[in-house]
Amino acid sequence: MKTIGAVDIGGTKIAAGAVTVDGTVLGRLECPTAPRDGFPAAMRRTAEMLRELGRSTGAGYAGIGVACPGPLDPFAGIVGDVGTLPGWQGGNLVEALEGAFGVSVVVENDADAAALAEANWGAARGSSRFIYVTISTGIGAGIILSGELYRGVDGAHPEIGHMVLDFSGPLCYCHARGCWECLASGPAMVAWMREQRPDPCGLTASRICDLARNGDELARRAVDREGYYIGLGLANLITIFTPDAIALGGGLMKSADLFLDRARQVIREICTQVPVEKTHLTLASLGPDTGLAGAARAWIHRHQ
Ligand SMILES: [Zn+2]
Repeated sequence: MKTIGAVDIGGTKIAAGAVTVDGTVLGRLECPTAPRDGFPAAMRRTAEMLRELGRSTGAGYAGIGVACPGPLDPFAGIVGDVGTLPGWQGGNLVEALEGAFGVSVVVENDADAAALAEANWGAARGSSRFIYVTISTGIGAGIILSGELYRGVDGAHPEIGHMVLDFSGPLCYCHARGCWECLASGPAMVAWMREQRPDPCGLTASRICDLARNGDELARRAVDREGYYIGLGLANLITIFTPDAIALGGGLMKSADLFLDRARQVIREICTQVPVEKTHLTLASLGPDTGLAGAARAWIHRHQ
């Protein structure tokens, strides 16, 4: 049986996989993204990985799905000015891979692709109003309404990570002050901790979580603050969309146990105008396969 070729593009690495129509990742290869080597070189490496996977699984590709950070044009497959992919602007993912394989190629924003995978194969199966939120270096989300991916005008992807929560907060690269991403992303947590206690030796969000578990008082405050802002952003989403389910993914959720009680408390306090108890808040369940499963699901979604 044919599989779907899946490509998950990140700023550091590109993963490729062969995925079955029920979401099983049969094989997986990775290479460095090395964006400064240029878009065509990255596409050649990607095509090589897909060919190798095709040989090892012995199955041809029905099509290829690609999950890529935005901004991008999900229909034309053209990469926009993506902060983590310098030099890729204008690169056409659809053209590059259709030219190499002669099958249809579908490109989707990575958060949207992950939302499709979680809604069909993961934590939100059976939910028709669903939001996937990823919290790591940045904060992004994919929204599913009535089983369909929500798209903005001209296919634009809504940037929920840049909703403003505290206008007196830190200045974000998006030019707003106190948007969700600059209050609750991993780097935001590190920046806050550094302001309180200068730390010259490579502080990371994961290190702060370790310190908090070991009883460091300031790290515990950083974790409490993180839970508060995660909850505040989620409370806004629940009030605006009243979804059946929200699933949380991304690197910071490896320490979800440190944040979620506080986040739930904030949600309960704030969401008084909607049936908040009906929104199921859960963790994303596809783990390290989310990106590849999402890329494959994006292809299936457009061919249903
Ligand atoms: Zn912002």
